[in-house]
Amino acid sequence: MGIASAWVVMAIIEQHRLQQARQCDSPNQNERPEREISVLVLHSISLPPGRFGGDEIERLFTNRLDALAHPYFTTIAHLRVSAHLLIRRNGECVQFVPFDRRAWHAGRSLWQGRCELNDFSIGIELEGDHRPFREVQYRQLAHVTAALLHDYPKLSTERIVSHEHIAPLRKHDPGPSFDWQYFRQRLNSVLAEESVAGH
Ligand SMILES: [Zn+2]
Repeated sequence: MGIASAWVVMAIIEQHRLQQARQCDSPNQNERPEREISVLVLHSISLPPGRFGGDEIERLFTNRLDALAHPYFTTIAHLRVSAHLLIRRNGECVQFVPFDRRAWHAGRSLWQGRCELNDFSIGIELEGDHRPFREVQYRQLAHVTAALLHDYPKLSTERIVSHEHIAPLRKHDPGPSFDWQYFRQRLNSVLAEESVAGH
């Protein structure tokens, strides 16, 4: 991929919102206590489990999930949760919370001696389950991550974790279907292209 095409898909953040994302504001957000943004947490989700493409994830994150629509939903419809961003199977980005606000994605969590990662992290959900994530999701995630690294200087490539890393007994996402090595390759090539382009 040349520099020109990299610019076409380059992610741009303005007013803490990803410009290419569809905005779908969640009420499940509040102020960050220290205004710090220094960790990126990756998740995966599918609703109902194992099914892709519906609007149930958006419904969950906006407190509109119908508990009676599926047996599994009775166990989660009461939850008040969100993430900053969802990257769907087709690469579409949906943003629920501006990056400077606290989204409710990590729950009880611990990393490098600090707890409550919601306070200082950005949460990105990938639509997925045990099956491999799609190429377009890795591509989108790499571009979004590069933009976040650029705009929030306390983030770094070493400060990208998975939900299972920070809540190991409780959470298993995104799990072994997420190819970290491939993601890091994609991210490094986006970062290299942007530095060549003088970004
Ligand atoms: Zn998670």
